[in-house]
Amino acid sequence: MKRAISGRTQLCGVIGSPVRHSMSPVIYNAAFEHASIDAVFVAMPVAAGQAAAAIEAMRTTGVLGLSVTMPHKFDVIAACDHISDRAQRLQSVNCVYRAAASRNANGGAVDDIVGDSTDGAGFVAGLRAELGIELAGTHCVVLGAGGAARAVILAAAEAGAGRVTVINRSPDRAAQAAVLAGDAGKVGSPDDLATADVVVNSTPLGMAGTDQAQNMAFDPSLLRDDAVVSDLIYHPLETPLLAACRSAGVACQNGVAMLVHQAVVQYEHFTGQPAPIEAMTAAANAVVAERASGQISDS
Ligand code: NAP
Repeated sequence: MKRAISGRTQLCGVIGSPVRHSMSPVIYNAAFEHASIDAVFVAMPVAAGQAAAAIEAMRTTGVLGLSVTMPHKFDVIAACDHISDRAQRLQSVNCVYRAAASRNANGGAVDDIVGDSTDGAGFVAGLRAELGIELAGTHCVVLGAGGAARAVILAAAEAGAGRVTVINRSPDRAAQAAVLAGDAGKVGSPDDLATADVVVNSTPLGMAGTDQAQNMAFDPSLLRDDAVVSDLIYHPLETPLLAACRSAGVACQNGVAMLVHQAVVQYEHFTGQPAPIEAMTAAANAVVAERASGQISDS
């Protein structure tokens, strides 16, 4: 049955620029519909420099929560009342929501806006859900040192990884990222792949629509037989790296699991309810497949 929009319907959205290509509305609206939550999720174009104004609008209009994408992930920090420890350490917020006490307020000014970063938790949960891997005690090798890599590095260390090795094109950025893992973190080289339990590609190498689409971040023949690979790319669903892993019998996953599980954390922040993970996974897979067939542009 089609959901009815009424005076009670609550609003969530994603702010960014550009943002019309975002897959988030499909994933969250599928979740709201499945869970019979009276809310809608829309894409909200917000120009660079306007993040604080968007958070003020959230306070006064009763918007339930916002996902945050480029270029606002740093700027919203100053506009929130509280920041989670992980967002503080990453200096990046991808989710803004109302603390539980003010979630059900009927609009009006609410001074309890919280900022969080959900990518790292999404990575850990997606690895567990799809590949059955717990990071405690593992040697985790992360390729890349950008926003996604930093979230993964911090989350891997918090999950108890014994070693977190960062390999990146720019060594200075690798060093800055490795610090997030504390004593477990170090800058490494491709030689470290031979001792890895978990390898994470957080570079765009292999991403469709780029001049690196045919490239692999590393050669999976360098890995031990029981290593697993997580490629954070979800467009295409199977990158050249994942195809090579599959041929070599290396257990691997694409970026859909992280995409879904970071949205699960956000949904739970927005609604205070457990997320319908299967419905969100089905919606994410459908929208990724649609996009791969050229019906929806890249996210
Ligand atoms: P980013 O901040 O731009 O960082 C990109 C990283 O990749 C940088 O460390 C960069 O190295 C490195 N890199 C870029 N081009 C390279 C090349 N040609 N050769 C070697 N290294 C290269 O990007 P991001 O936001 O972290 O995203 C990275 C990837 O993760 C993207 O594929 C994105 O789609 C994916 N992602 C997935 C999810 C998910 O939910 N599944 C979430 C976020 C991101 P330098 O430091 O030297 O520039």
